[in-house]
Amino acid sequence: MILNETIIEAYEKGLKAQSYSYSPYSNFKVGAALKVKGHDEIFVGCNVENASYGATICAERNAVWSSVAKLGKQELEFLIVITNTADPSIPCALCLQVLSEFNDGDLPIYLANQDGVKNLVYLNELLPRPFSSIPKEREVKNE
Ligand SMILES: [Zn+2]
Repeated sequence: MILNETIIEAYEKGLKAQSYSYSPYSNFKVGAALKVKGHDEIFVGCNVENASYGATICAERNAVWSSVAKLGKQELEFLIVITNTADPSIPCALCLQVLSEFNDGDLPIYLANQDGVKNLVYLNELLPRPFSSIPKEREVKNE
């Protein structure tokens, strides 16, 4: 896979955000970088854990919130997720659902670690049925 300059720039920014990860409980350090369609700015996030684990926020949602705070709701163009693991990770199900609110499903998600971008997946591969999308083809007819 050949990465363009925008992806490489976003990876570098996401890597810096990952260095700010506050993850004393899991030591799972995650950075995220995203771009929205029609704007050049790269938005980043890192995971921020909390002593009450439920208050923890993922890097991916942190980056989405940041873009919404600056530009309002926009269509996402791509996302990069950077983890401190040998094999990169995909976003969790909560983040996939949030991402589906800001993209129709063809969102490229680049999976990366400290060594660089390692893989590319698409949102609709990871979350084929977002919340509230009901499969009509298997609708049950009540008589
Ligand atoms: Zn998540």
